[in-house]
Amino acid sequence: MANHFSELAKKSKRNGDIGNIAKEQTGKPSLEIYKLGDDVLRQNSKRISKVDESIRKLSREMLQSMYAAKGIGLAAPQIGINKELLVIDVNFEDSAAEPLILINPEIIDYGTTLNSYEEGCLSIPGVYLNVVRPSTIKLKFRDEMGRPRKMKADGLLARCIQHEMDHLNGILFVDRVTSKDDLSKELMKEGFHEKDVISIN
Ligand code: ZN
Repeated sequence: MANHFSELAKKSKRNGDIGNIAKEQTGKPSLEIYKLGDDVLRQNSKRISKVDESIRKLSREMLQSMYAAKGIGLAAPQIGINKELLVIDVNFEDSAAEPLILINPEIIDYGTTLNSYEEGCLSIPGVYLNVVRPSTIKLKFRDEMGRPRKMKADGLLARCIQHEMDHLNGILFVDRVTSKDDLSKELMKEGFHEKDVISIN
């Protein structure tokens, strides 16, 4: 099923502030995506003080790499840049849907309901495990033009935002997995190492 974070086929094109980015990419991601075990994924990211053309260019490159890798979210640390920048597009079937670019995102409220859902990550390819998270959030951020914005999110979008924001704090979804047996099996199957997980449960 196309419900996994990293297995979502991309279709069509879009227009917007960020320019035209074809969702249908072929070949390898243009940027190298770092994997579980790389130290750069474990650093805290820095706030972006000025949203300028270099940030927009980086956002475009991240979107292209995300689409090429068939992901629905990518955080700057995953390409080795410890800055508070995320790109997200959960509307893979909606040709008119704009991707989200979140700069300096901050969650300002969590809903009280928790849910469990299977996550994956472009930095841990092939590994899919259930993670419990709040099902709704409110957040504030800056968009690609530097404008302050607020939004509410639920469902897959809320989950994806929380997953990507964890990357900004050096946290990976495997750190949040409660079933240690499943975690060991899944990591071993894909050639990853349990020692690279920093469990927070
Ligand atoms: Zn991830």
